[in-house]
Parts: sequence; C-alpha cells; structure tokens
Amino acid sequence: MPDNPIRPTIPLDAPGKRHGFLKLPHSRNDSAWGAQMIPLTVIGGAPGPTALLTGANHGDEYEGPIALQALAHELEPGALTGRLIILPFFNHPAFQAGTRVSPIDGVNLNRAFPGAPDGSVTQKIADYVARQLVPLADLVVDFHSGGKTLDFLPQACAHVLDDSAQQARCVAAARAFAAPYTLMLREIDAAGMYDSEVEGQGKTFVTTELGGGGTATARSARIARRGLRNLLIHAGHLPGEIEDPGTVMLDMPGDECYHAAPCSGLVEPLVDLGEAVHRGMALARIWPVERSGGAPETVLAQTEGILAARHFPGLTQIGDTLAVVAVPRR
Ligand SMILES: [Zn+2]
Repeated sequence: MPDNPIRPTIPLDAPGKRHGFLKLPHSRNDSAWGAQMIPLTVIGGAPGPTALLTGANHGDEYEGPIALQALAHELEPGALTGRLIILPFFNHPAFQAGTRVSPIDGVNLNRAFPGAPDGSVTQKIADYVARQLVPLADLVVDFHSGGKTLDFLPQACAHVLDDSAQQARCVAAARAFAAPYTLMLREIDAAGMYDSEVEGQGKTFVTTELGGGGTATARSARIARRGLRNLLIHAGHLPGEIEDPGTVMLDMPGDECYHAAPCSGLVEPLVDLGEAVHRGMALARIWPVERSGGAPETVLAQTEGILAARHFPGLTQIGDTLAVVAVPRR
C-alpha cells in the first residue's frame, strides 16, 4: 500500500497535553508547497485506555467541535487516566467552509472510508485516521448533528451489530452519554461510513445527532459537553459521577421510519420534533411554488412513534429526507 503523507506534528504517545496538527501536504494554486493543517490535541495521563474523539466529520455540525475544543482547552493531564486523541475538526476544510462535504474535492468524509493513502485530500484523511489512529483506540466517539438540512432530537446512537457483545459495549457507552434520547440505529446508507470502519475494527463506538440547522443552541451545547464528560467517566478516563437526567430509548426498526419528500416545494410542518406520531397521520404538506392556488402534497406517517428528525430548510427538493419517525422502547 502506498504511504500516506499525513504526519502528526506532535507525538501521539507522550505524557502531558500537546496541541499540534495532522499535517497533510496539499499543493494548490495559492500555496505551491502548502499543507492542510488539521488541529490535533493529545492528552496523556496515568496509564490506561485510549479514546479517539472527533467533531465536524461534517463541516456544518457544531456541538462536537464546541465540546471538544472545551475539553482540549480545559482538561489537565493530572486529572486523566489513559490517553485522549482529540480532532475537534475531523474534516477541517469542510468545517472552515461551513459545508457538509469538503470544498476541496467534494467528498463526504463520512462516505469516504476506508479512504485511500494516495487519494484526494478527504480520502487521505479517512485512510490516515482509519489505519493509524483508530487502531490505537479502545473507545471512539464521533459527534454529529443534523447540519444545515436536518434537525434532530438530541440523541446518542449505537448501531445494530452482528457481534452482540460489541453491540452491548456500544449501547452501554451511548446510554452513559445520557442524552435526552438514546437511539438504536440501522443506517440507510452505511457504505463508506466512519461508523462501519470503526465498528469493523471491533471498537466501542458512539455517535450522536445533537441538533441541527447549521448551528448549536445553549441546550445542545450543554448536552454535548455533559455527554462527553459522562462518556469519559464511563470509560475510566475521568473520576466522578455520571450526570444522568434520564433518557428515552428509541428504535428505528426499518425503512418505514424514513419519509422522503415526494416532490419539491414549500414545507408546511404539521408535527414538531418529539411529538407523537400515529400511522397515517399527516406529517407535512408540500405546497407548490411555481403557481398559486394549487393543492399541496401531503406526507403521511408510515409508522407510529415520535418525530425524531425533520428537514430543516423551508424549501424541499424531491427525495430529501423530510421526516424520521423513531419508536420509543416500552
Ligand atoms: Zn454528520
């Protein structure tokens, strides 16, 4: 396999707290011998396990970067057992542009795994993290939110896995995050995801969906910071008690949970996040935008549960995910 040119500018295995970069050579019009400098903090404490913590896998999701920047700034190594490898801005070019996918190569990092050492910028980031950082970790946490086009009930997520012991570890960690909701997730588009790569390496993996709309709120930022601290206590990195105000367990059993827009147009939401949904209930109307006086298309719930995610912009395109219904576990 060709060599990946990414190099960390700080040691990954030294005690203490260090701030540096993953340096990725990137020759381009405005910098002939330039580099992408992806911020990296490594904190080494007393001997113990390793956690790999990432935010901004998608560049328009903000709760993870907030919680991880706060952790990198505030945590002292004396308080830590084990090692934390922190990438607050996993897809740094996308984060700087405020876009979901990288503006350099148009690649969605969370569909680029396992990546390619001689591929595009995003493919190189994926390859480096998958082959050099994930193997070091016992726990991997990847923060997501809805980005500019979706909004979610704040939730930590674990996936349905073939290995039931690994799934139990992941569920216990997601539960320890103590977000208002904890979801058992089956992906609709799992190929190339970081999640699948990390789980394939046998790691304990937690992901989140903490809000959306291309911003954070005071509530969602608090949930992210509290959940991260809870997870680090759960994994033995930090002393203290998990702060658990309670969570609602959710399932997404099948394709019927996902509701796509049947046409383009103006969205009239009829149900808000967290509200109860019954089968056949109208979730949204989509009004025509090219002429006045026409009838809307009505999107009906295919299953019962609660509204767990919704399309965020006021206008939709045909095929956009308009609503996701999750089923509370009784
Ligand atoms: Zn995301």
